[in-house]
Amino acid sequence: IENLGKIYTSAGRSLTVLDKVNLSVEAGSTVSIVGPSGSGKTTLLGLCAGLDRSTTGLVELNNIRIDQLGEDQRALVRNKYVGFIFQNFQLLPTLTAVENVMVPLELRGEKNIRPKALDLLDKVGLADRSHHYPSQLSGGEQQRVSLARAFSNSPRILFADEPTGNLDAETSEKVVKLIFDLNREAGTTLVLVTHDMELASKTQRIIRIKGGVIIADDLTKS
Ligand code: ATP
Repeated sequence: IENLGKIYTSAGRSLTVLDKVNLSVEAGSTVSIVGPSGSGKTTLLGLCAGLDRSTTGLVELNNIRIDQLGEDQRALVRNKYVGFIFQNFQLLPTLTAVENVMVPLELRGEKNIRPKALDLLDKVGLADRSHHYPSQLSGGEQQRVSLARAFSNSPRILFADEPTGNLDAETSEKVVKLIFDLNREAGTTLVLVTHDMELASKTQRIIRIKGGVIIADDLTKS
């Protein structure tokens, strides 16, 4: 991304949330974005993933400029290359766990998607919850469904917003392992937003953001 800016306007007032942010993430690498609440981390992640459009600046994902694209075209790029784990899961409430995982597969026009979705749920330890609706699942279980859904299109890049934020220590460890396995086994690039410095230290690089500006960009020992 180059010179990225995001201004939100509501009730006639505008708020600059990101200002002239420049950032380049190498394919296959692992990066954390850390910073105080309200500093613009989620906004930055959403713009990088093509979930939202920037006010100014350039965003390139897998050599495709996405900042100029409309929502439909961005959705196509996302479905092809991107996995996203939301802070609040964002599962579809009227679909069961397995159906939620099937959505990206269906959008890609894949065949035989139910067994594949069940396999993914098995991988996150939720085979026995596949027919439950999100409202019937605990927070940690919903997070794991959202993980299975994010994995389902074999993403080139996984964006995860507080992937362990709502989890107990044991589930958190499982989720972290799954995410880093994806990087090791499939070379998936990881970009994590987290308040957990132990998790951040597991990535190769930590980017600190404050007031919508990058204030530090350091390599870790990982
Ligand atoms: P947290 O760690 O608490 O999740 P964050 O660093 O991820 O915070 P963002 O969610 O990116 O921060 O929000 C940055 C700022 O932008 C906040 O002040 C927030 O109130 C504001 N903001 C976010 N989304 C919108 C929106 N849709 N409309 C107006 N303001 C918004």
